[in-house]
Amino acid sequence: MAQTDQFECGGCGAHLEFDPKSQNMKCEFCQSEKIIPVEHTVIVEHDFFSAP
Ligand SMILES: [Zn+2]
Repeated sequence: MAQTDQFECGGCGAHLEFDPKSQNMKCEFCQSEKIIPVEHTVIVEHDFFSAP
């Protein structure tokens, strides 16, 4: 519980970044995507991308 939602790439073990386009976690190194398990999904109301 020390870390917030973080996922490791199954291919290269790198830290996955959230990709807004696919709504999945994506590895920037090998481009593999990981579908976020439903139980870990947080409902986000697009606050991240709201432009002033
Ligand atoms: Zn990777």
